Amino acid sequence: MDYIQPYQFEPLANEDESARSIAEDALVIEKQKRLENTEWCTCGNCKIMQSFEECLCCTEVADVISTRDRDAEITGEFQCITDHPGFHANCLDVWALQMARKNTPKKFLTKEAKSMHE
Ligand SMILES: [Zn+2]
Ligand SMILES: [Zn+2]
Repeated sequence: MDYIQPYQFEPLANEDESARSIAEDALVIEKQKRLENTEWCTCGNCKIMQSFEECLCCTEVADVISTRDRDAEITGEFQCITDHPGFHANCLDVWALQMARKNTPKKFLTKEAKSMHE
């Protein structure tokens, strides 16, 4: 007859899981750091924002990089996407933004934007 074993603290955390929690810790530290200084910014225009999510440099956004590289021949080198000649016309102009939203397929809109849309 087998003994009934007491709880054996199983399953043990495997290496993957502990590695993941270290990565999570690193992320938390990284988040806090972003709110302390702007070392994460490589375009030179970013400021510390209220939340970590807003502390994002344009050079960290893949679409921004591809736009910058695509237009480099026309626009020349620039550090920040806000220096792109199309930025003010397309990203700060209310009418352009409204048009862009009109033309955005619904599946790309957030829930909030969707309800505003309808
Ligand atoms: Zn930046
Ligand atoms: Zn920038």
